[in-house]
Amino acid sequence: MTFLSLNDTFSFSCSKKVPCFNECCRDLNQFLTPYDILRLKHRLDLSSRLFLERYTTQQTGPETGLPIITLKPDNPHKLKCPFVTSSGCSVYEDRPSSCRTYPLMRIASRSRETSKITEQYILLKEPHCLGSEQGRTWTIRKWIEDQEVTFYNVMNDMLLEIIGLKNRLISGPLHFKSRFAFHMALYDIDTFKSHIFEQHILDTWDLDEKTLNTLKNDDVELLKLGHRWIRNILFDNLEQD
Ligand code: SF4
Ligand code: SF4
Repeated sequence: MTFLSLNDTFSFSCSKKVPCFNECCRDLNQFLTPYDILRLKHRLDLSSRLFLERYTTQQTGPETGLPIITLKPDNPHKLKCPFVTSSGCSVYEDRPSSCRTYPLMRIASRSRETSKITEQYILLKEPHCLGSEQGRTWTIRKWIEDQEVTFYNVMNDMLLEIIGLKNRLISGPLHFKSRFAFHMALYDIDTFKSHIFEQHILDTWDLDEKTLNTLKNDDVELLKLGHRWIRNILFDNLEQD
C-alpha cells in the first residue's frame, strides 16, 4: 500500500463515456458520515429520521458502541446504490464524501499534542474501475478541490476527533444513553433540533438570540453544535491529558 500526500500525482478520468460507467455504484459498501447524511437528507427533502429508515443500515460497533451507518443497497444481492440511475448518480451534487474522494481513500489522524490533522491518501485500484486507463494526471490536492470534498473533510474531521477521544478516554462500548445521544446529535439532526429546543438544553450554554436563530435555521451550524454537545456530555467530566 502506497501512501500519497497532497502534491503526489495519479492518473484518472471518469465520465459517462468510460466503458465502466456506473460500475462503481453497483458494488456498494458505503459508510456515511454525519455530514454525508445531512447533505443527502436535504437533497431528498426528507427528515433525518426518515432518511435513516429508508436509505441506511444502522449497526453498532461491538467494541466501541458507536453507530456504523451504511447506505442500504437497492437490491441486497446486487449491492446497487439506491441513487444510481442509467444516466449516473441522481444525487451527484450531494454525493457522499467517499464517492467524491474515489479512487482515493483519505486516511486522517489527529495529533494529541498539537490537535493538527495529518492526512494521507491511498490510490484504490479495483478491477471494475477503468478510470486510471483514461489518463488525465492530477495532484491529490487538485482532485480534492475538483471534487469539492474539502468542506466534507472539515466536517468529517470533527467526527474523527470525537472518535479519538472516545477511544482514548472511554474503554469498551458506550453506555446505552451515551450511544443514543451520539446517534441523535450527529446522525439524526432533526430529532436533535427538536430535543435541544423543546427540552431547553441550551439554556445553560449562554448563547445569544442571533446564535440560537442560526441554530434553528442552519443545519450545518446545528451539526457543529451537535459535535460540541457530544464532547460536552461524554468527555467533560473525564480527565484529558
Ligand atoms: S451516491 Fe452516487 S456516486 Fe455514490 S455510490 Fe451512489 S450513485 Fe454512486
Ligand atoms: S471510471 Fe471508475 S469511478 Fe468512473 S464510472 Fe468507471 S468505475 Fe466508476
